[in-house]
Amino acid sequence: MTRSAMPAETTPDMQELAQRSTVDLRLVNAMAGEREMNAREQQMVDKLKSERGEGLFSDMLYTLTRRNFPSRQAKTLWADITGHRVNLKKLLGRDPGLSLAAHDYLTNVSGLMRNVGMIEEGKFNLLATVAVHDGLTGLYDKTTFAQMLKDELERALRYGRPLTLIMADIDHFKHLNDTYGHADGDVVLAQVADIIRKHCRSTDVAGRFGGEEFAVLLPESTPETGRIFAERVRVSVESHFADTPYKTTLSLGVAGAQTGDDATTLTKRADAALYEAKNGGRNRVCGGA
Ligand code: GH3
Ligand code: MG
Ligand code: MG
Repeated sequence: MTRSAMPAETTPDMQELAQRSTVDLRLVNAMAGEREMNAREQQMVDKLKSERGEGLFSDMLYTLTRRNFPSRQAKTLWADITGHRVNLKKLLGRDPGLSLAAHDYLTNVSGLMRNVGMIEEGKFNLLATVAVHDGLTGLYDKTTFAQMLKDELERALRYGRPLTLIMADIDHFKHLNDTYGHADGDVVLAQVADIIRKHCRSTDVAGRFGGEEFAVLLPESTPETGRIFAERVRVSVESHFADTPYKTTLSLGVAGAQTGDDATTLTKRADAALYEAKNGGRNRVCGGA
């Protein structure tokens, strides 16, 4: 049995914990030979192997440990852990399973991990999801959105791809709260968030930026396209509440990423466009033209 004494990776942040796509634990167990794979699983594994190459070892280890091991180290560790499982099986007279073998190997044999607890996969996924989302609206919280904005902006500028940021703020929301109460205000907030979410593609990122303020990031979208998106959201919000006492509307500001931008400068331009929309009379979209 080889000892894989490579340096440990940095601790993943909440965003990574919640968003890194993982191979389902059942599939990882099947890949370790725990049971026969069905045809669909075999097909999925073949696809993963061709797409991820040795990265698949990193993915499998991530599912088992929620730690990011580089693919070469992960490949060695996978061999070590499955070998350790065989040894444990002989010693115990029964199969301890892949998770326990991994736990024992990584904590007691290699010392690569410490203070490792135990949590069911479903509960872990729920925790990780809750940690990055706003409780009322289900959109990404401000911290997570800010990190995603930074990441997406870096990627867009590096590859010369378009990226558009939209800031949105509910009009006269204080009045709505004062008139109908905070609980009704919360319902309106959640419904506006639902409308925003409904217009997003899978690659778009929507966040709650603060009280009644939202932000949407549109990767691969020019400001012109972003403006069309913003206008659709604006019209949807207006018509959704038109037949309610709330008559809620939304103002939106659009800004496209430019060379030399950082998250602050891009946000400032989207904010300035939002300010313009407010000053121009609200219930409108500014910027992105
Ligand atoms: P404007 O059109 O200029 O944006 O006016 P406004 O009234 O929407 O803006 P203002 O910033 O004066 O008020 C925002 C209000 O949002 C005040 C605050 O009580 C309310 N608010 C912030 N967070 C929440 C929340 O989570 N729930 C509810 N119900 N209200 C909230
Ligand atoms: Mg407002
Ligand atoms: Mg506001």
